[in-house]
Amino acid sequence: MRVQCVLCDRIDTIDDESLLAKRLRNRPIHTYMCEECYQRIAEKTKARLATGKFRIYRSNLTNDEW
Ligand SMILES: [Zn+2]
Repeated sequence: MRVQCVLCDRIDTIDDESLLAKRLRNRPIHTYMCEECYQRIAEKTKARLATGKFRIYRSNLTNDEW
């Protein structure tokens, strides 16, 4: 089946029998993201988590200093 990435509008063809195809058919609301965009989002999420950890560390350091 042909699927369109919600982020970059790229059209991919995925195996009709794949788990992803079945999921998309069962839930039309479920959006498809191409591999490239998926990786980009995953990296952003990781970066955000890293920033969060850094902030927690910084605030602890500030508390210790006070
Ligand atoms: Zn994409």
